[in-house]
Amino acid sequence: MLGCLIGTPFIFSLFQVIYKYMENKDNLMEKIVALCKRRGFVFPSSEIYGGFGAIYDFGPYGVELENAIKREWWKTMVQIREDIVGLDSAIFMHPKIWEASGHVSGFSDPLVECKSCHVRIRADHLLEEMDVKADEKMGLEEINKIFEKHRDQAKCPNCGKKDFTEVRNFNLLVKSNLGNFTGDEDSNHVYLRGETCQGIYVNYKNVLDSTRVKIPFGIAQIGKAFRNEITARQFIFRTREFEQMEMQYFTNPEEEMKEYEKLREYRWKFYLDLGIKEKNLKWHKHDNLVFYAKEAYDIEYDYPFGFSEIEGVHARGDYDLTQHSKYSGKDLSYADPVSGEKYMPHIIESSVGVARIFLAVLCDAYTEEKIEGDEIRVVLKMNKKLAPVKVAVFPLLKNKPELVKKAKEIYGGLNSHFMCEFDDNGNIGKRYRRQDEIGTPYCVTVDFETLNDEAVTVRDRDTMKQERIKISELKEYFEKNLDN
Ligand code: ATP
Repeated sequence: MLGCLIGTPFIFSLFQVIYKYMENKDNLMEKIVALCKRRGFVFPSSEIYGGFGAIYDFGPYGVELENAIKREWWKTMVQIREDIVGLDSAIFMHPKIWEASGHVSGFSDPLVECKSCHVRIRADHLLEEMDVKADEKMGLEEINKIFEKHRDQAKCPNCGKKDFTEVRNFNLLVKSNLGNFTGDEDSNHVYLRGETCQGIYVNYKNVLDSTRVKIPFGIAQIGKAFRNEITARQFIFRTREFEQMEMQYFTNPEEEMKEYEKLREYRWKFYLDLGIKEKNLKWHKHDNLVFYAKEAYDIEYDYPFGFSEIEGVHARGDYDLTQHSKYSGKDLSYADPVSGEKYMPHIIESSVGVARIFLAVLCDAYTEEKIEGDEIRVVLKMNKKLAPVKVAVFPLLKNKPELVKKAKEIYGGLNSHFMCEFDDNGNIGKRYRRQDEIGTPYCVTVDFETLNDEAVTVRDRDTMKQERIKISELKEYFEKNLDN
């Protein structure tokens, strides 16, 4: 059987007919959720205890994909940028930070509750589903007015009744009792950070004083954030614990909008370089700006549930540093070392959740193809840079020690250079299907010929073409083709 697979390298591609099931987008989401579980990308948190709302764990392949996304982001936002440095600030911070930032008083979403089944829903989401324009940045009065106008149509997605409370604001900050030894749970709240950028603002002066950066410059960080999200739906798109990648760029007020345009362009290109199809991306301009913002755009991705925010790129003016100066009593203004000019830096930011890119990558890559006969192969055609496993190594037969030994040697020679997997389980066709489903770009098969010619068969994920490569040339071959 394998002789024929290896001996006729183009045989699959002759049979290959692109078989698109993608039209049904709900179906796509279900397929991706199932694949994530089946293949160890994402597991519901605490599953053996019945799960834990809107929290997910990333499995063996999921953590590889997450790491690859973070690696690409860090390379783009820090490594190749002379003007941006990294930071890793703590999750817990002085509670006053969240007062200064406006989170204690204003970090809330509009909530309505079904009076019949008590399900809580974001009012703006409910209205949007009814094609009524609304967003979470509207004032409470404004959104209540809109909600009252359309109350008759608003149907509970859980029980179907049309009986909601009025809209009220629900604060998203997650409280903890860290350091509170008084036993009084209602005071001295310390919060789990609701966004990572506050850690950047409060370290801005430290970075300025300890490194050689000068305005304009940026500080980037990747880290966990926590929000008491009201509606926990859409898989890993909206979770209560998530990882953010944020970059805050400090500018002269005069330069803010010029730098903002540059950042928008730079961030758009990031997604194209990740291999995301441009037709699945679009800009969304905020109509309702918070009072201090100069301009705000989101990059949206066409998820199976429609275009939704993947990343925010915002021009924030001098709000953040002014607030922290006020609340901390420390002067955070900047004195230009050349001109002597003193000003409060303005900030532009790029902010994205790792899991939103993760989900976009999977949606973009998920492909079903009809191959031999009626067989369908599921393949994640993601950018090779992102693939959780780069090379899978197989002995043709599990019960031939000489093949297993050789395959193990090859695996051992490659795995310090690339993420590799050794697999001797099941027939070769099944092993290919398994690797296709996790997006492995190359499979290496050791067969009886290998013992004579020191060469192996390398099979390409996308074309399914197979070629014979000398073992001594494998590392170079993968370096060239994987663009690691
Ligand atoms: P949304 O409108 O979807 O609630 P937001 O406007 O509140 O998002 P920001 O506060 O601007 O989001 O956060 C910046 C980025 O962090 C978002 O673009 C998104 O990628 C990510 N993010 C925010 N909330 C979540 C969440 N609950 N789960 C996963 N990622 C999130």
